[in-house]
Amino acid sequence: MRLGRPGRWGDADGVKTVLEPFRIKAVEPFRITTEAERVHLLEAAHHNLFRLRAEDVMIDLLTDSGTGAMSAQQWAAIMTGDESYAGSRSFYELEHVVHELTGYRHVFPVHQGRAAERILFGCMVMPGQAVPNNAHFDTTRANVEYLGAAAVDFVAPQAADLRQPAPWKGDLDTAKLAAWLQLQPKGSVPVGLLTITNNRVGGQPVSMQNLREVSALYRRHGIPFFLDAARFAENAWWIHRLDPEWREAPLPKVARAMFDLADGCMISAKKDGLVNIGGLLCLNDDALAAKVRNLLILTEGFPTYGGLAGRDLAALAQGLREVLDPDYLHYREASAHYLGEHLDRLGVPVVRPFGLHAVYVDARAMLPQIPPHELPGQALACELYLQGGIRTVEIGTLMFGRTDPATRQPVVADHDLVRLCLPRRVYTQSHIDWVVEAFREVHGRRDALRGLRIVEEAPFLRAFTARLQPLPVREPAGLRG
Ligand SMILES: *Cc1c(COP(=O)(O)O)cnc(C)c1O
Repeated sequence: MRLGRPGRWGDADGVKTVLEPFRIKAVEPFRITTEAERVHLLEAAHHNLFRLRAEDVMIDLLTDSGTGAMSAQQWAAIMTGDESYAGSRSFYELEHVVHELTGYRHVFPVHQGRAAERILFGCMVMPGQAVPNNAHFDTTRANVEYLGAAAVDFVAPQAADLRQPAPWKGDLDTAKLAAWLQLQPKGSVPVGLLTITNNRVGGQPVSMQNLREVSALYRRHGIPFFLDAARFAENAWWIHRLDPEWREAPLPKVARAMFDLADGCMISAKKDGLVNIGGLLCLNDDALAAKVRNLLILTEGFPTYGGLAGRDLAALAQGLREVLDPDYLHYREASAHYLGEHLDRLGVPVVRPFGLHAVYVDARAMLPQIPPHELPGQALACELYLQGGIRTVEIGTLMFGRTDPATRQPVVADHDLVRLCLPRRVYTQSHIDWVVEAFREVHGRRDALRGLRIVEEAPFLRAFTARLQPLPVREPAGLRG
C-alpha cells in the first residue's frame, strides 16, 4: 500500500502517516492559549462554544462550511476575477466548468446554499404540499416549511444503529417512499429531493443504486428530482471506493452519472466548492429557469453574478476543477479515518462509518453518568475546549431538544453526539494528533465530568445563543441523606 493511503473499507490501516497532498504557501497563525485562560473564556461564553471568539480557539472543528483553505490557483483566480455587473467573463468560466461537471443547461450562481433553496422552492412549492428527501438539512427543511409545505424524511433503516459500519447509511428508504407516494394526491408533491452526502445522518453517502431507484420513483410519479449536492465530490468518492461498478471510473464520470439521474441540483459551494462563500442552482427545465431568473434578480442580483463578486465566481470555478482530484479526496478520507481510528483505540465510542467531512462521538455512551437532559454532548464539547482549545459542536439535546412550554420539562434528542468537523485542507496530521491527545486526557477523567443546565434559551434554535451553567459535582449515591 502506498504511504498515507487509507486501507480497505473498515480495516485499521489508515492510522499510518497521512500524507497531505499539498505544501503550505501562506500560514495563518493562531494564538496558543493556556488552560487557565480557557477556563475564563468558557465562563465568559456561558459554556456555549458558539459564543466564543474564534481567535480564542486553537483548533476549530465547528463546521466544514466555508472554512476551507483555497489553493494558490484559486488565489490567482481571485486576482483575475471580472467584476462587470452583467456578462462577467468569470461567470462564463464558471458556467463552463459547471456544465462539464453536471451537464445541466441552466447555471445560476447564488450567495450560498440556502439562497438556492429559497429561490427553487419559491418557484415550485405551495402551501399544503409535501417535499420528500432522504433527510432534509436544517435550512432545507426551514425553507420548505416557511412556504407552508411539509418536509418529509425517509432515512434508511441501516442508519439507525450508530456504531454499525454499514456502507450506505445515507440512502433514502425507497420502499417507504414508494408506499408514501401512492398515498399522495396528484399534484401535491412539487419536487423530490435527495441529499448527497446525507448531512443529517452524519455525512453518510448515498449509493449509485439508491440514486437510480430514487430517480426512477420520482420519474414514475412525474415529480421533478433535485439533488441537494453540497458534498457531491465526497459522495462520488465513496461510490468510487465502495462500488465495484465504479472502481475504475474517473471521479468526474461518477459525479456526472449522479447528476444525470436528476433534473437539477442545489449546491452550497462552501463545502465541495472549496470556497468560503457561494452556491449554485442548476437545472434543465427552461420554463422553471425563467421563473428562477426573475426571483433571483429580486434578492441575489443579476443572474450572471447571483450575489457574489466576480472574484468569488472565479475562485469557485477553480475550486470545482480541484475537488475531484483523487489525491485530495484520498487525503480527506485518510484524515477522517486517522482521527476516528485513534479515538476508537482510546475506547471513545465513535459513530461508524466515519464521514469524510466529520467524525462523530457518541457522548451519551461515553458519559453514562450524565443523563441526556444534563447535556452529555455539551459537557464533552466544553471539556475538549478546556483541555486543548478545540471547538467542536454538540449535535444532541442542546441542539434538537427543547423545554416543553406547558410542563417546563426537558424533551431530549434521539442521540447526544459531538461532531468533529474537518475543514478542507486546513489542518495537518499534527493538529489531528493534538485532538487525539486532548481526547486521551478527557477520556481518562471521563467519570469526573458533570452535566450542564440551561440558564437561558431562545424559543427557536436555542443552541446558538443559550447560556449554560455546569452542574455541581454529584455526591456518590451512598452518601446521600
Ligand atoms: C450547508 C448545507 C446547506 C445550506 O447551505 P449554506 O451554504 O449554509 O446556506 C444545504 N444542504 C446541505 C446538505 C448542506 O450541507
